[in-house]
This record gives sequence, C-alpha cells and structure tokens, in this order.
Amino acid sequence: MSAAGLRERLKDAAAKAARGLCAALYPEGITCDLCGAELVADTRYTLCAECTGKLPLIEGHKCLGCGVPINDEADYCLRCQYTESVFRKNISPLTYDGEGKELVHALKFGGKKYIARLLGAMMSDAFIESGEEGEIVVPVPMSERERKKRGFNQSELLAEDVGGRLGMPVLPALGKVRDTRPQKDLTGKERAENLKGCFEARFADYIRRRKILLVDDVFTTGSTANECARVLLKAGARSVTVLTAAVTVPKNRVERGEDASEHRT
Ligand SMILES: [Zn+2]
Ligand SMILES: [Zn+2]
Repeated sequence: MSAAGLRERLKDAAAKAARGLCAALYPEGITCDLCGAELVADTRYTLCAECTGKLPLIEGHKCLGCGVPINDEADYCLRCQYTESVFRKNISPLTYDGEGKELVHALKFGGKKYIARLLGAMMSDAFIESGEEGEIVVPVPMSERERKKRGFNQSELLAEDVGGRLGMPVLPALGKVRDTRPQKDLTGKERAENLKGCFEARFADYIRRRKILLVDDVFTTGSTANECARVLLKAGARSVTVLTAAVTVPKNRVERGEDASEHRT
C-alpha cells in the first residue's frame, strides 16, 4: 500500500473511532418517543416516566388466546371463546388504545420508523415473559401494491428489531401474492374468506419442523394471523406463535374491529 493510501486508511479509522465515541457519549433516543421530552434518567424504553405511566401495558390476568386483559376469571376473552385458531397464542405488550394506538399510528402512518425500536423492545420483553419458544421470526407480508403505497412494511421493521434482540433469524417465509379487499366492512367470517389464498409459503426447507414467531403490528380479529399460521403449518412448521405490538380489546361477541378499520384485520 502507498503512503498516501495508508494515510487515508488511518484517517478513516480515526473518523470512525470518533463517531463511535460520540455515539457513546450522546446515545440515540435521548428524547421521549411520544412527547419529545429529554430523558434524564436511564430508562428501559425511550419514553419519559409520564408517558410510560400512560401506556396501556398489559399486566395481570389475560386471555390465553389473544393475550388481551380479562377482568373476570375466564380463560378466554369473548373474541377467542368463539374463534378457532391454529396458532398457539398471540402475545402483545400493549392494548390498542390511547398511547398504544398513538405509537402504532406514528410508525405506520407518521412514517416514524424509529418507533419500531421502541415497540420491538416491548414486544421482545413480552415474548420472554410469556415463556413461549421460537426459532425463526417471520413478518406478516404485504402485497407489492400495498408496499408501494406505504413505502415500507411495518411488520418487517418490527420483525427485524425483535429478531435482533432475541438473537433469532428473520426470514421472509411468507409472501402476499394477491391483494385483498379492505377488511373494515367485513364480518369475521367474511374476513377469513377474503384472505384465503392470498399468502404463500417461501423457504419451506428452512421452516420445516421449526417453531415460528409470526410478527405483525396489531392483532384485531386474528384472521390474518390465523391464515398466515395455516399456510406456515401446511408448509411444515412445527408451531406458530404470534407476536404483535398491540391487541384490540373486543367490545362484543363478534369483534368487527371497527376502530381498527385502517388495519388489515
Ligand atoms: Zn414523554
Ligand atoms: Zn382472547
């Protein structure tokens, strides 16, 4: 190497070291992801104490199917009592209300991709706490048209973050090969019908006999998660557990997901 070349290299190395030092002294995420207040204390999540206090975090007794909080002693919520699912269960750190909804909206519609890190941290914590097992993280896919419209797939961003934290590989083992009608005006049964045949399994060799952790942003009726799980199991997966950032609270026997109308399900 020439002397000039060596000098260039040393300069690059010095610049890189300086950047690393800056990152250590002034870490990213020093402001609250919700209100923008400066974070003074060392916090688990990039949120101030006030915003953390307002989060609809799920604690205590919850539904064995979808993970939504339950007030009485029942094992299953109204949504899950009347639905059959092929996935093991859904795990969510948040209910889809208030600040929980705000965070998901900021990621999906506000283009704030960095929110995926915060939600990914909460999702990973909820997954570890659940005691469930997983070997490969698979995001719920979008069709080409849907991706073009939004520019990114929020489920992929969440899956990447969760996979990184849990040390699990992320595999796009599902593709959405057909566009579906908007789910908002459909009943649970129609939604399941609407989704039939829209997903296909990919990388079947890698998912065979594996425990899959299926990642999405919101769990509403569970019909998307169920259809994805059905396709993965058919391709040979051993089991599918669903991990989402937030779960909607069912209001009546047939959860129509009215207030999550902008979602796939
Ligand atoms: Zn805040
Ligand atoms: Zn439930």
